[in-house]
Amino acid sequence: TLISNHMPTAELQALDAAHHMHPFTNGNELAGRGARVITRAKGVTLTDSEGNDILDAMAGLWCVNIGYGRDELAEAAARQMKELPYYNTFFMTTHVPAIALADKLAKLAPHDLNHVFYAGSGSEANDTNLRMVRTYWAQKGKPDKKIVISRKNAYHGSSVGSASLGGMSGMHAQGGLPIPDIHHINQPHWWAEGGDMSPEEFGLARARELEEAIHELGEDKVAAFIAEPVQGAGGVIVPPETYWPEIQRICDTYEILLIADEVICGFGRTGNWFGSQTYNIRPHIMTIAKGLSSGYAPIGGSLVCDEVAEVMNDCEFAHGYTYSGHPVSCAVALENLRILEEEGIVDRAGAETAPYLKEKWDLLTDHPLVGEAKIAGLMGSIALTPDKSSRAAFAADAGTAGLICREACFGNNLVMRHVGDRMVISPPLVITKPEIDTMIERAWRSLDQAH
Ligand code: PLP
Repeated sequence: TLISNHMPTAELQALDAAHHMHPFTNGNELAGRGARVITRAKGVTLTDSEGNDILDAMAGLWCVNIGYGRDELAEAAARQMKELPYYNTFFMTTHVPAIALADKLAKLAPHDLNHVFYAGSGSEANDTNLRMVRTYWAQKGKPDKKIVISRKNAYHGSSVGSASLGGMSGMHAQGGLPIPDIHHINQPHWWAEGGDMSPEEFGLARARELEEAIHELGEDKVAAFIAEPVQGAGGVIVPPETYWPEIQRICDTYEILLIADEVICGFGRTGNWFGSQTYNIRPHIMTIAKGLSSGYAPIGGSLVCDEVAEVMNDCEFAHGYTYSGHPVSCAVALENLRILEEEGIVDRAGAETAPYLKEKWDLLTDHPLVGEAKIAGLMGSIALTPDKSSRAAFAADAGTAGLICREACFGNNLVMRHVGDRMVISPPLVITKPEIDTMIERAWRSLDQAH
C-alpha cells in the first residue's frame, strides 16, 4: 500500500511507531498514544491528519520565521536542484549559491563578522566553533587555551561536542558527556534563582561567575565563552539588563573569544536581525541555523570575525561537512533572506508585532497559575507557580504543571512548549495581531484547564 495523507491516522501512527525512532521522545509512550500527524501548513497554521487547524506558536522548532507555505522558497530549491543539485566546497572548489549567501551574510551581520563556515545544522556549527576556537589559540602559540565556558541549562545541539557545550543535565547523563575541557556556569535565571536580589544585582552576580571561573581555571587556559543572547530551549530566560554588558567587559578584559549562539535569536527573533544587536554584544563568532532558511532546508553556519578568520586562514582547518554550503540549502536561505528583508518582515516584527505581543502576553500574569511573563521580541515565556509572591516552584513534581498545560494546549489546537514549569512561545515572525489574540485566548483556556 502507498503510504500517504489519505491513510487513516491510526494506521499512519502504527507504522510510525513501528519503524521511526523520534528525537526527545519516549518510544513506548509514542506507541501507546500515537504521534500527531501533521499533513500541511500555511502561515502560522498547521493542519493534522484529522483535519484540525493548529496555531503553531513555536514556528516548528523556533525556526519557521517566515511562516509556512512560501512557494518562492520551493521554487528557489527546484531551480537550484535542476541547475546544480550538489557540489561540495572542499579542495579549492566553490559555487555561486555558497558565494552569494556568504556575501549576503557578511552584509547583514553586525560588526566585522564577514566570513562564514557552513554546516548542515546548529549542532554541526557549534562543533565547528569548538574546534575553531581551540585551533585559533593553537595557531597563536597558545595551545593550552582550550577550555570553553558555557552555561547550565543551555542548549547548543545534540552532537557529542555541541551537547557537551550545552548544559542540559539530562543529556549529559546519557552517553558520558560532557567531553573534557568544557566548564559550565549558572545562567541569569532571576525568577527561579534570584532569591532576594533585584534582577539587576542578580544579572551582575551571574555575569561575574564568568570572571570567577576564568580566575579559577586560569586565563591562559580559557579559549572562549559561548552563550545564547536569550537562552531559548532552556525556557526563554531573558537576561537582566546588567548581564550582557558585564559579560562583554569580562571577555574583553581576559582575551576570551565570545561565541554568540544565535541559532534561535538570529534572523529577527528578538526584534532585530540578530540578538547581538538587541543586547549590544560584539561576538567573535556567531552560530546561525534555523531562521537562516526558515527551516525550509537544513543549513547552519559559523559567522567569523576578521581577526579570527585571518588567523584561521594561516592553516588548513581539517574540518568540514559533505553538506557545508549545500547549493540547494544556500539558494533557499538566500530567497528566505530576500523575502524577510524586502517585505520588511524583520522590521515589522520588531516595531509592531513585538510590542503588541508583549502587551497581550503580560495579561497572562492575571491568571492565578502564572508568575512572571517575559518577552524578547517574538519569543516569550511564562512561569507557572503555586504562589506568585514567593516565586515558588512546583517542587515535588517539577515539570508536571508544564506538561499538563502543554497537553491542554494540544487539545486546544495550540502548539506551545513546556520547559519544566515554564511555557514558551516563538511564533513565526509573520503572526498577525488577530492570530496573537487567538493564541492568548487558547493559552488562557489551557491554563484554566491545567489549574
Ligand atoms: N543552538 C541553539 C541555541 C539551539 O536552540 C539549537 C536547536 O534548538 C541548536 C544550537 C542546535 O541546532 P540543530 O538542531 O540545527 O542542530
